[in-house]
Amino acid sequence: MGIFDTVYFEPPRTCSQCGASISEVQTKAFDPGLREYRVGDVVYGSPMLSGVLGEDLYCPHCNSSKQKIYFSMWHTLLIGVYDSEESAEARVGSVDRAELLDYLVHHQSEALRWHDRFSRLYGELQNFHDYQTGRNSSGATRRENPMFFRIREYVDAEDPLGELVRANKPINPEDETEVSREDEQRDEETG
Ligand SMILES: [Zn+2]
Repeated sequence: MGIFDTVYFEPPRTCSQCGASISEVQTKAFDPGLREYRVGDVVYGSPMLSGVLGEDLYCPHCNSSKQKIYFSMWHTLLIGVYDSEESAEARVGSVDRAELLDYLVHHQSEALRWHDRFSRLYGELQNFHDYQTGRNSSGATRRENPMFFRIREYVDAEDPLGELVRANKPINPEDETEVSREDEQRDEETG
């Protein structure tokens, strides 16, 4: 199919042919760049500022693409995904400011989450690098140096860098859920 974008549905749609649940659609309706969109995202390269764009909804379960899906656009913001053109049109005319604020809050907290995640990873890597190169301290005292406190659990491990990477791993980069300490401990117990 070449380059496309993916629009994820929340909630998923139902295939009119086989009843399967469809959670996403690949589309070339915008400026295709393998981007992932959800309602509340500004879309790159929308052919229209505001209005409705139709797309064939492919069902990976029965290979049918008889169904259509409609994107509601408002100033290139994807504000809804609908099964009928009428509903999509109605949505374009009913955007309110509280919803726009919700989208904004969502994206801001998302950005903060990534910032925190990156800061933690960077800080731990930097700290581990200092530890390895022996900067600021040396020998047996290095292990006891409080400046390496945050990575102490890693340096005690058999594979310190692997441990550090594992501790910073998200379950799914797009997922809201982080790997918590409890999950890690449970993993260790069960696996
Ligand atoms: Zn189907």
